[in-house]
Amino acid sequence: MPQNYDFAICGAGPGGAALAHILSSRGLRTALIEKQSNFSNEFRGEGIMPSGYYALKSIGFDLEKIDLPMQINSKIKAHYRGEHLIDAEIPFKNDGGLRWVSQPALLEHMISKTENYKEFNFFRGHRVNDVIYENDRVVGLKGVAGNQEFEFKAKVIIGFDGRTSILRKKLGFEVKDFKQIIDIIWFKIPYPSQIIEPGTAFVNFVPEGFMVCPACYDNKLQVGWIITKGSFGEIKKQGVNVWISEMQKHCAENFAEHLEINRDKISDRFILDVGLDRCTTWNKDGVLLLGDAAHTMNPVGGQGINIALRDAIVAANHLVPAITNNVSPAELDVVFEQIEEERLPEVSLIQNIQKRPTTAFKKQNPIILFLIRNIPSITKLSFVKRLLAKLLNWMAYGVTDVELKA
Ligand SMILES: Cc1cc2nc3c(=O)[nH]c(=O)nc-3n(C[C@H](O)[C@H](O)[C@H](O)COP(=O)(O)OP(=O)(O)OC[C@H]3O[C@@H](n4cnc5c(N)ncnc54)[C@H](O)[C@@H]3O)c2cc1C
Repeated sequence: MPQNYDFAICGAGPGGAALAHILSSRGLRTALIEKQSNFSNEFRGEGIMPSGYYALKSIGFDLEKIDLPMQINSKIKAHYRGEHLIDAEIPFKNDGGLRWVSQPALLEHMISKTENYKEFNFFRGHRVNDVIYENDRVVGLKGVAGNQEFEFKAKVIIGFDGRTSILRKKLGFEVKDFKQIIDIIWFKIPYPSQIIEPGTAFVNFVPEGFMVCPACYDNKLQVGWIITKGSFGEIKKQGVNVWISEMQKHCAENFAEHLEINRDKISDRFILDVGLDRCTTWNKDGVLLLGDAAHTMNPVGGQGINIALRDAIVAANHLVPAITNNVSPAELDVVFEQIEEERLPEVSLIQNIQKRPTTAFKKQNPIILFLIRNIPSITKLSFVKRLLAKLLNWMAYGVTDVELKA
């Protein structure tokens, strides 16, 4: 017999874990279903903006008060082909800057705190592979855990299952794909403290690309190296030593040397197939998609976690009263639409901002090259300052007001 819940949430990433915490703490029976048995097996972003910090804090997770592996980035050092361009302070540094937080540790913490609520049911190592329909509406999820099959039924089914969402695929949601031309190689190396001050995000504009390297916890530097979309197969065949040597050609001598000394200390290698897309509608047949499942974010501006957390808050604001008041399925569909309507302005604006830089950094036409080389003087112009301040404000704090009210 399938088990019955108020909510069945597929995916315990930051969005799903946050939503499950709010719902369970409001006395609603919640099943959170996660395919991984260990959060370390799922590689995701770790950069948290002040908007994400405040979202987590309002839910009950104040990163400043929890003992988690975390590094604050409060400065930026930029190079152009290894030559120094500019040093700057992150404008929102007084609000914690960009916090680099271990996601496995954060998610474990969130789950353990949520387990204090008797209404919370966490199913680790459970892979959802299908939905249960009744009268043309999805009423449950099914899948496998090891060699056991499972079924859960719920009043509300939520797909918070990320960029490869099974619910998006199974229900055939229509998707608008903003084609991306890059992928990213991610890896960690020991922090080059002899070259870069602690807590500095280091960037280097290289021919046809870009290196972005935030300071990471555990005294490491997280390196992101942009490559042409689809080229990783070839790069992988050549082996790690070839792409490290390629990077060294375009770095300052001391950074190239640091890479050389640490060739055997490279860890956490991961290739990110960069995507940017959005479902044209976020609900179908009684299922609501949220976070990357509804709108996959690319890494520009470290937005994905923050946006997923803010989706969770807005969804809870609408869903807690709806389920407490026992709304009908038709009324629930209206609630789903209200959630999308409230989140769409922020998501679409941020995605519009995210569309451009990846192409600009990859193609580097003469205008872009001119702009990059002249960053120090251009960023002193007052209209550029105003534009940058506006963009950074959206990236740091979000576009719309999001406040937990449920
Ligand atoms: C390499 C990389 C770097 C990034 N850098 C940043 C950054 O610095 N800052 C930032 O804000 N964002 C970053 N992002 C994006 C960010 O990770 C995502 O936008 C964010 O994690 C989305 O949260 P989510 O809860 O919607 O989904 P996810 O975090 O993707 O979580 C989805 C969960 O669903 C589970 N799941 C999937 N399918 C099933 C299934 N069939 N059954 C059960 N469970 C399932 C997955 O295991 C996963 O735990 C990065 C992403 C990557 C991959």
